Amino acid sequence: MTEPKFMDEFLDAFAHSGSIMIYCRCGRLHVATNEIEYLESEDIEEIEELKRKSPDKVIEWDCDMISWTTINSEAVVFDCPCGYADFLCNFIEGYHEEIMKVIEKIIKFDRDNVDNKEELLRKVREVK
Ligand SMILES: [Zn+2]
Repeated sequence: MTEPKFMDEFLDAFAHSGSIMIYCRCGRLHVATNEIEYLESEDIEEIEELKRKSPDKVIEWDCDMISWTTINSEAVVFDCPCGYADFLCNFIEGYHEEIMKVIEKIIKFDRDNVDNKEELLRKVREVK
């Protein structure tokens, strides 16, 4: 996969969440080891058990927080080896003109809806 050119902008737009431990949509568990003492004992047991069963599914980071976002109701961890964040960023970069056309339609739809609601409000006020 090609390296996205606008990953910093993608992160600015989508990185709203940080956690000490978080499962990526691919099933890998990411753990911020600097803050592990703040986890509940059940969470630490869960990490240790997964490390025993599937050591390749646990990724420990020497940091305070794992940065992630929710896309289509799934957690996407930035920097996960599954590369889903890179995939999404590459998709946006590769199809930005098509995406802009869709966004223009969405904005027009929203604007028309607001206009219709304002018209409805005007009519309701006239009735009083
Ligand atoms: Zn992943």
